Amino acid sequence: MQYKSVTVLAPAKLNLSLDVVGTLPNGYHALDMVMQSIDLFEKLTLTRSEGLTLTLPGSFVPANDKNTAIKAALAFFQYTGLLAGVDITIQKRVPVRAGMAGGSADAAGVLVGLNALYGAKLSMSELCAIGAAIGADVPFALMGGTCRVQGVGDFLKALPPCPDCWFVVVMPSVGVSTPEAFKQYDVVGSPVHPDCEQQEQAIRADDLRGLCAAAGNALEHCSGAVETPVIRQLLDAHGAIASQMTGSGAAVFGLFDGEEQAAQAAAELRQRYRQVYLCRPDRGGARVVHGRPLVRKKQKTAG
Ligand code: ATP
Repeated sequence: MQYKSVTVLAPAKLNLSLDVVGTLPNGYHALDMVMQSIDLFEKLTLTRSEGLTLTLPGSFVPANDKNTAIKAALAFFQYTGLLAGVDITIQKRVPVRAGMAGGSADAAGVLVGLNALYGAKLSMSELCAIGAAIGADVPFALMGGTCRVQGVGDFLKALPPCPDCWFVVVMPSVGVSTPEAFKQYDVVGSPVHPDCEQQEQAIRADDLRGLCAAAGNALEHCSGAVETPVIRQLLDAHGAIASQMTGSGAAVFGLFDGEEQAAQAAAELRQRYRQVYLCRPDRGGARVVHGRPLVRKKQKTAG
């Protein structure tokens, strides 16, 4: 099946844990993390075209060739050798510079969308290989669900779904630059080193309290996101079992075991912060949710 246009949903992620475990010879940081997709989605529409365009209605993110969506489209066409194009529209719903991998979700969404649009039938491992060259979090954005992620983000182990819970995610007004956060980590280090192995075992045992006991983020102290402690205090005061920053920040989230308490906490936090999201774990990665089939014109036959 090939399509004229497809609609794709690509989920944001949270880090249930993030540890920095070393530095590689190329200066990159070796990480150990548990990542979780959440039901806050980028919505992408991809339409067949002879050119390549990107529109991000209402977003300040530039639609230039540095955009992960454009990079993903170019990489897809190069890999497949297809002489084709696409018009991409992204309704950005995931906050930017949040540590929620919105840019990676966009790249993953474009790869999955183009694969369907042109019936290219690339496998998940091919999409992950193309995606890894665009950004370290792209393979996870393709896989989604709950994963232990190691290396620079390129070693993925799919885990069983995380225990049932609710997340209240708060994005402060100022975001964080990921490279800056890692540079600062090299200077100041971290007093926090979560036990990702213990957290993996808690997830396997469907033990939410154990998951929370092993939570933590080694980038929290060096991210420069000044509002993290205040947001965490507020989340804790409103009943979060655990709270922490996600990725390199600046978004902070609380984990709740009941919907009512999570909704109440979200309502309280909305009094002080503009971007507050009440979310649930999501079990998949970027996915096509709608397609308009391609209707080929009938060729006129002679005689
Ligand atoms: P991560 O957790 O992967 O570090 P993040 O939430 O910190 O993600 P993003 O919002 O994904 O960061 O991207 C941050 C930077 O990347 C922005 O400064 C932006 O200009 C650039 N960028 C390029 N393409 C995109 C895109 N499609 N969406 C968002 N940002 C993009």
